[in-house]
Amino acid sequence: MEKIRMTTPLVEMDGDEMTRILWELIKEELLAPFVDLKTEYYDLGLARRDETDDQITVDAAKAIEKYGVGVKCATITPNAQRVEEYGLKKMWRSPNGTIRGILDGTVLRAPILIDCIKPSVRTWEKPITIARHAYGDIYSAQELRVTEPGKAQLVFTPRSGAPITLDIQDFDGPGVLQANYNKDDSILAFARVCFNYALETKQDMWFATKDTISKQYDQTFKLLFQEVYDKEYKEAFEQAGIEYFYTLIDDAVARVIRSKGGFLWVCKNYDGDVMSDMVSTAFGSLAMMTSVLVSPNGKYEYEAAHGTVTRHYYKHLAGEETSTNPVATIFAWTGALKKRGELDGIGELVRFAERLEAACIRTLEEGIMTKDLAGLCEGITPTVVNSTQIILEIRKRLEEELACRAC
Ligand code: NAP
Ligand code: MG
Repeated sequence: MEKIRMTTPLVEMDGDEMTRILWELIKEELLAPFVDLKTEYYDLGLARRDETDDQITVDAAKAIEKYGVGVKCATITPNAQRVEEYGLKKMWRSPNGTIRGILDGTVLRAPILIDCIKPSVRTWEKPITIARHAYGDIYSAQELRVTEPGKAQLVFTPRSGAPITLDIQDFDGPGVLQANYNKDDSILAFARVCFNYALETKQDMWFATKDTISKQYDQTFKLLFQEVYDKEYKEAFEQAGIEYFYTLIDDAVARVIRSKGGFLWVCKNYDGDVMSDMVSTAFGSLAMMTSVLVSPNGKYEYEAAHGTVTRHYYKHLAGEETSTNPVATIFAWTGALKKRGELDGIGELVRFAERLEAACIRTLEEGIMTKDLAGLCEGITPTVVNSTQIILEIRKRLEEELACRAC
């Protein structure tokens, strides 16, 4: 069979630990035999980030700006323990944070559903997609550990005039301080990405903040969303028969649990970070959650929602067998290949990616799965396979899918 050709390179960002091992296997078994993979490769593994003073991460983000589509493997965000483990020059920032900062994007996360795994929230019938604002807030805050008595103030100095100063706290002992910011431009872009996605997928859109408590910060999010909705999307939403619904974050959490699912839940940065883990776990496994960063000017970065699965990696290093789920990482590749195919008008590439997704779902629905899913499965007796076997089983079904569609 002739390999599918690509015209524009995909920005490929390699990563760390167990997911780095899966990454290699996925390329070798599921992609390279079928697609003449054209990628611009960036090694975001921790060693290389340290070697390049993290320049490699910035270069990768710029390449996504240039080419439009990237696919990223999970990476370690170093903490003090990692600095020691890898002998790092410093505690580098989260690569995802750096990339999001440059692309100024919104992260959309949706679970991959299979028949034999029922969500632990019994009322959920359809997937809930979470849109997370990926700019600002605590992820780019300034923080200070206060160690002695003193006065904390918030100061804004306008370019045009006198500073505005607010008293925060008169400390008489140790404490902590944090200053967050966001920008109207980013909030507006976030709103538009979400409204567009809701329209594209014909789903209701929910948005929530804590505007009753945060009367400037969160209130700004609420007002800007309402303004964009009223001016730019109201009519289209009404025509599509979908709804924009705003409420307080705590009310939203309660309603989500009682809902049937099937909507886009738009969250501020931290809410989205936390809630996407809850939603994915309730739908089955973090390893079954897809994630895409969409920038306001239409650039896409696909990844799995989970991390580098460190615990499995140490087992692997110790020569023990692992059963790590590759599905979300495979879906990162299929998402990216589909988007590349759409943008470049290569229908064959889009169809290949769809067949690879179908092969993953079929493998799982036939009961062949990794350990994380086996315990959740109902109505069938699962066969638990290891990290390599699952990929080979998917390959078998992919070849069937490709042969069957070709005949
Ligand atoms: P994690 O890698 O997501 O793993 C947490 C646990 O979830 C695993 O120990 C495993 O549970 C289960 N799990 C996650 N993915 C799985 C998969 N594909 N198959 C089977 N089980 C899976 O989170 P973490 O251990 O908190 O973080 C590890 C590293 O990843 C950290 O250095 C962190 O900085 C990084 N991280 C990166 C990203 C990213 O690049 N997007 C996101 C999050 C975290 P069991 O051990 O019970 O089997
Ligand atoms: Mg999280």
